[in-house]
Amino acid sequence: MKIDQRFLLAGVIGWPIMHSRSPLMHNHWLEENNLNGRYLPLAVEPSKLEKAIRGLNALGFSGVNVTIPHKQNVMQYLDEIDPTALAMGAVSCIHAREDGSLFGKNNDAHGFIRNIKAQSPEWRANAGPATVIGAGGGARAVCYGLLQEGVTEIRLVNRSIEKAQALADQFGSAIKPVAWQDRENALQGTKTLVNATSLGMVGQPALELRLDDLPQDALVADIIYAPLETELIKKAMLRGNQGVGGLGMLMHQGPLAWELWFGITPSVTPKLQALLEKSLQA
Ligand code: NAP
Repeated sequence: MKIDQRFLLAGVIGWPIMHSRSPLMHNHWLEENNLNGRYLPLAVEPSKLEKAIRGLNALGFSGVNVTIPHKQNVMQYLDEIDPTALAMGAVSCIHAREDGSLFGKNNDAHGFIRNIKAQSPEWRANAGPATVIGAGGGARAVCYGLLQEGVTEIRLVNRSIEKAQALADQFGSAIKPVAWQDRENALQGTKTLVNATSLGMVGQPALELRLDDLPQDALVADIIYAPLETELIKKAMLRGNQGVGGLGMLMHQGPLAWELWFGITPSVTPKLQALLEKSLQA
């Protein structure tokens, strides 16, 4: 361990948390940038969230990422929240500022869009309608990101239609709620298809979706990264669609957190990707 004046501290708050690959990624960056510090998995029970958040400054944390189930609840304990996070109704990153105040941001939409652009530079959100499946926290970030990129129509499919309707009420008329049983019809003319449900994740059933009506030039993205390639991505690629997995969404929101906490922009490199992939394949 390097000995110097300052030991940088950051982490990720969730419940449970030990499955998170964020510590692997951020500790790789600390090492790569030759910095003295540690990024920790912080298992925080929902009933202890306020105490944990209020302790960050006293403990010397620069900040934390926030994951399930705290992204919404944590907002009430923050001193300032940026407009993007307010619009999304969720915070994914907290900066424990030197003046003792807590500032919240949401970097998920940036990570989602940056990942698609990195893997498919020619992709344009405004090429045609998008179909997003899911209306939870991840889907909010996906829809927000697509709207910022200029998509004019999002067909929003969700098992609980009222959640899709709530998102349409908040985000505006570009969001068209679609009932779960109509999800395959929504694929006609779709240029960007995104799975933002937990279906297809390790331990969960697959997303049942026939792709017959999906145009072959549509991009298919999944925000799930465990497994690295979901059945949806495999199926889409087999029929000639471009597939984009969710690992890059995780990687590309990281640098924004670092800029806030440490004033440094770490690099998303093939080496980092290989490290995370190896851990996910283990
Ligand atoms: P969430 O808020 O709990 O939302 C879950 C979504 O999945 C809801 O739309 C839910 O529908 C739907 N769903 C769950 N089980 C279903 C089933 N059996 N049939 C139909 N729909 C079902 O979770 P989230 O935070 O959005 O996360 C969703 C996934 O995205 C997770 O796998 C998470 O790990 C991943 N994620 C990845 C990143 C990344 O950086 N790559 C970031 C965020 C999330 P209802 O509304 O009907 O319950």
